[in-house]
Amino acid sequence: MLYFVKNNMLHRLPVSRRCDCIYKNEPLRDTIPNDVERCVYCMNYWPDDEA
Ligand SMILES: [Zn+2]
Repeated sequence: MLYFVKNNMLHRLPVSRRCDCIYKNEPLRDTIPNDVERCVYCMNYWPDDEA
């Protein structure tokens, strides 16, 4: 899983359907930093997201 930080918020890539942020070439990372907020939509597990 890859992540990126946008507006000091950590999002997942691909972005969750529930999240309205758009990935625009922010630096990608494969670890979760501790010093940023986590997007609740991207970082929470939603059981129906995989459908
Ligand atoms: Zn997000």
